[in-house]
Amino acid sequence: MKQHARVVIIGGGVLGAGLLYFLTKEGWNDIVLVEKGELTSGSTWHAAGLIPHFIGGLSMAKLHREGPALYKTLEAETGQATGWHGCGAIRLALTDAEVDWFHYVKGILDTVGSECHLISPDEIRKLHPLLVVDDVKMGFFTPNDGHTDPASATNAMAAGARMGGAEIYRHTRVTGTRLLDSGEWEVVTDKGSIVCQHVVNAAGSFAKQVGEWVGLD
Ligand SMILES: Cc1cc2nc3c(=O)[nH]c(=O)nc-3n(C[C@H](O)[C@H](O)[C@H](O)COP(=O)(O)OP(=O)(O)OC[C@H]3O[C@@H](n4cnc5c(N)ncnc54)[C@H](O)[C@@H]3O)c2cc1C
Repeated sequence: MKQHARVVIIGGGVLGAGLLYFLTKEGWNDIVLVEKGELTSGSTWHAAGLIPHFIGGLSMAKLHREGPALYKTLEAETGQATGWHGCGAIRLALTDAEVDWFHYVKGILDTVGSECHLISPDEIRKLHPLLVVDDVKMGFFTPNDGHTDPASATNAMAAGARMGGAEIYRHTRVTGTRLLDSGEWEVVTDKGSIVCQHVVNAAGSFAKQVGEWVGLD
């Protein structure tokens, strides 16, 4: 295990592995990820893997826009399949309030350049003949939605990060972090310590516990 690194990421879920991967793309390779179990042993393992575009916030809409493009190309880059399956999706509005919400979300997706269409019940039936649309007012069609296997996608990003020079320590539990007089951080694990410039808390549902080590509530 390294004793010094520029960044230590705590947690090997989709978030930690994704950050590790994208940091290597930015040219950062003196970086490590520490995971107490196997990669994806947290929430990521439980996820359904739906990759939708429909979302009411601008920042998240940009993130959602990037997912399908990434999951389609990662396998060619890393040799690790992501389980991507593009199938598109239709959401159904049954009330006027939901129709208003669809118009609002369309504005956001149009702003970030994610393809979406407000469609009539007749158009819904053409796309999905088995649906009963008698009480449906409008459909929100996102043709580029899909689903992926979260464990495979995470491992593909981990593989890409390793190819970019990052290191991953599995079965290694972080037990504390300490700010040193030098301004660096000491990340203490059950297998030794790593001194680094930046610590990333990607511990998922354990993030509160990790935050408490530096006084965050
Ligand atoms: C049933 C279910 C269905 C879902 N479906 C979807 C979906 O369809 N689409 C979607 O986008 N999202 C879905 N989600 C949400 C998604 O799973 C989470 O948002 C995502 O997995 C969070 O990833 P993470 O990396 O932040 O956390 P996690 O995957 O929980 O990773 C945190 C990691 O940190 C490690 N860790 C914690 N403490 C330490 C420590 N002290 N030292 C070392 N390692 C540590 C843990 O072992 C864990 O592996 C779903 C979630 C659930 C539960």
